[in-house]
Amino acid sequence: MSTAEFVIPPPNQPSLAIAGRTERFPVRRIWCVGRNYLEHVRELGNDEKQPPFFFGKHADMVAPDGAVIPFPSLTNDLQHEVELVVALHSGGTDIAPNDALGHVYGYGVGIDLTRRDLQTAARKKEQPWEIGKSFDHSAPCSPLRAASEIGHPEKGRIWLSVNGAVKQNGDLAQMIWKTSDVIAKLSQQVSLGAGDIILTGTPAGVAALKPGDRIACGIDGVGTLNVSIH
Ligand code: MN
Repeated sequence: MSTAEFVIPPPNQPSLAIAGRTERFPVRRIWCVGRNYLEHVRELGNDEKQPPFFFGKHADMVAPDGAVIPFPSLTNDLQHEVELVVALHSGGTDIAPNDALGHVYGYGVGIDLTRRDLQTAARKKEQPWEIGKSFDHSAPCSPLRAASEIGHPEKGRIWLSVNGAVKQNGDLAQMIWKTSDVIAKLSQQVSLGAGDIILTGTPAGVAALKPGDRIACGIDGVGTLNVSIH
């Protein structure tokens, strides 16, 4: 077997920290789930479920805990979306919901940063979402916690504050599509693999950010994430 040679230096492997360990989690792909929380309390019958939909960010768009994130270009409406991050140590296609959690390495707290004005304009023009969702530093993520340590969280407070004021305050139990459903559905669309991370949707309360804002967020039993906008 020969060692591959490249005409330019290969890019660095994007990765996430793991709480309490020096080893890191290599990121292969970043997937995000569209709307996945009820906006207000109501009964929801199964027949009311719309299938989840997915969009992507690039692996090198992750940002670590403590990051100072430059206010992105082109937007006047940068918004925060705090989300449970699911990190996979294995994958496959057409994964059964009952098998899905066996592919999970662990969990983190992430923010799906969104250029809302550009996302909305793209949607109206029936263009792709990339300009609104997929940009440098658009996926800050806390250190991961292994499922072998914390289990598979299905309830617990998920919150985000800006400059100390709470903006988002939900519970993982409000997720319409649970982690196992999300993995199963996404594996019908693409082959999932080790290193894939999935941002699983945000509760209500998303709002605009401005330079100088300090964001704190967390999920009970998973961790916390602090970043600021420069
Ligand atoms: Mn989101």
